[in-house]
Amino acid sequence: IMENDPHSILEGMAICAHAIGSKKGYIYCRGEYPQVVKILKQAISQAKDKGVLADFDIEVRSGAGAYVCGEETALIESIEGKRGEPRFKPPYPPAQGLWGKPTIVNNVETFANIPVILEKGSEWFASIGHPSYPGTKVFTFTGDINNKTFIEVLTNTTVRELVYKFGGGIPGGKKFKAVQIGGTSGAFIGEDKLDNPVAFDAMAAIGATLGSGAVFVLDETRDIVDVVARIAGFFEHESCGKCAPCREGTARIAQLIKKINDGRGSHSDISLIEKVGRVMSYSCLCGLGQAAPTPVLTTISQFKTDYNAKFI
Ligand code: SF4
Repeated sequence: IMENDPHSILEGMAICAHAIGSKKGYIYCRGEYPQVVKILKQAISQAKDKGVLADFDIEVRSGAGAYVCGEETALIESIEGKRGEPRFKPPYPPAQGLWGKPTIVNNVETFANIPVILEKGSEWFASIGHPSYPGTKVFTFTGDINNKTFIEVLTNTTVRELVYKFGGGIPGGKKFKAVQIGGTSGAFIGEDKLDNPVAFDAMAAIGATLGSGAVFVLDETRDIVDVVARIAGFFEHESCGKCAPCREGTARIAQLIKKINDGRGSHSDISLIEKVGRVMSYSCLCGLGQAAPTPVLTTISQFKTDYNAKFI
């Protein structure tokens, strides 16, 4: 959206600003995407030249790439020039956010939806996609999938359609094994759940989320325990360390899953991972820690054969 339709974001932000009486907006972008920052700055300059933003100013701020800065209060801290760590809540950003002022934080996809809803009407928007979660969703295809691209689909699209119809299926005629939806902390879904629609409620019903819309496909040859061991290592690294359940929990899970992956684990390690994961989901301060165990936990529950193979 930022690369190909940046003006839809600016327009959505300007409409939001008009609604809440704001004069200043920020687009927070990971520092690894300088090209996107360039495109956004150019679009802002074009919009200013045309006078369509009136007295609303938009600024692009680059982060240093910390995963936790996707959490709204860590993002706010980062924009304020501080270390990107989540704040204790409440107060929530709409009451006390950036520079201590009431703040709305949305992702670019949400803002990009606003102009078309105003133009075509809320009834039109409510009539497309899944009834419980109308509209569209953008997905990015990665992993063992033929079409490594991004696509916008109606929310009544099934996961199977994502993988086979839009993603073009698995390369080399191999069989499907699993798909992780929603980004690195998303749930892994097996073959039996492929006919689930990608609507928010329907995904929640199978323990999954839409998250960033990343669709990471694994074919039959992939070692799923090895994959989640790498993911666990990622979260150990990305935990900001502010709260103990995440700081300790991500490290312990990474340690235990590595032990299992190396063939040194036992069934009691699985029980311990499940226990630590449960504690983290209840007690971590922010979404990073709460969701970090999801890839490991969802594969333990659905891919027992792969785990058992590590114990032989
Ligand atoms: S859950 Fe993890 S990332 Fe979030 S505040 Fe706690 S330590 Fe930091």
